[in-house]
Amino acid sequence: MSAEPSFLHLLHAAEREGCRFTRAQVASWDPADLERFERLGVLKRIDGSIADCPDCEIGHVGEVHVSIDGAGRQRRHLACPLHGRVEVTADSCSEWVVAPAALAGAVALAFDTAGKPRPVGQGVWKLGRCKLGDSSREVVLLLNASAAGEVALATHVGQSGRAIVVTPVHEPDGRIWHGAVPAVILLSDLATLQSDGISIDPLEVLDRVRCADAAAERKSLLPTDPQVKKTVLAQQVNAVITNLGRNEACVAAYKSLGSYRKAADHLTERTGSPYSKDMVRRAVLEAGGPDAVLELADSGGALRRVASQARDRAKRIAQSGN
Ligand SMILES: [Zn+2]
Repeated sequence: MSAEPSFLHLLHAAEREGCRFTRAQVASWDPADLERFERLGVLKRIDGSIADCPDCEIGHVGEVHVSIDGAGRQRRHLACPLHGRVEVTADSCSEWVVAPAALAGAVALAFDTAGKPRPVGQGVWKLGRCKLGDSSREVVLLLNASAAGEVALATHVGQSGRAIVVTPVHEPDGRIWHGAVPAVILLSDLATLQSDGISIDPLEVLDRVRCADAAAERKSLLPTDPQVKKTVLAQQVNAVITNLGRNEACVAAYKSLGSYRKAADHLTERTGSPYSKDMVRRAVLEAGGPDAVLELADSGGALRRVASQARDRAKRIAQSGN
């Protein structure tokens, strides 16, 4: 999937501030495309300062001079080397510029982001968050291929590598990122122009994001990486959560089966990780003992007691440390 020539021209222009299309340039496009760009608002027609000479077969471009005639009307002329002063129409002087806000809006629609696109400086646009699988990612668009634009982009994307970075055509320099490298989507690569806007294949986006995530993960396992400390911390937090989950599972299984051994066998079979009857017994005792657990059947109270006991223990540890 690649962009139509006219769309590709638009994307190239979107990265270069002050870039204009002349009447002659847009004349090479499918007229329906220009109409579509104007309707979507991504290209805006302005009063230009150059025009094609209407009197020359080979077509040269001349600078347009505007004057007011005796009747008060605006007249436009250019200086032709063959014909001298040649009048041109206002329409032939039209030029087109990219409207960044409209383009950012069209890209945001393509990603179906929640929130309104907003410029944060140097051609960087925050488009809001898009849903991706069962999580969401921030989408950041860069409409500025200069080094200053890329530096601003990296600052707004941060270190996590979780954002989805979108640029029209160029791939940002790989050295700009502060931490993990985010997924980069080039519109010239993945976007197509439709009658009602821009569309981007969500499966391709998902694929790019998965690749970026996998690369970041591989990198974070290297011992020299500054991310490693963060990873170890995350693993420790996960271990605590897993333990809490195991206790709750033990209590729930004991509640429904009424036996430590049966509960342990059931959990081992269901989860694929080993549970012993002693583990179940400990969990049940922590939850207030067998009688309390069985009495509280299905009220959810046992789980609350587990949680509050855990808090009490934490408090006692904190107090004893003083
Ligand atoms: Zn001429």
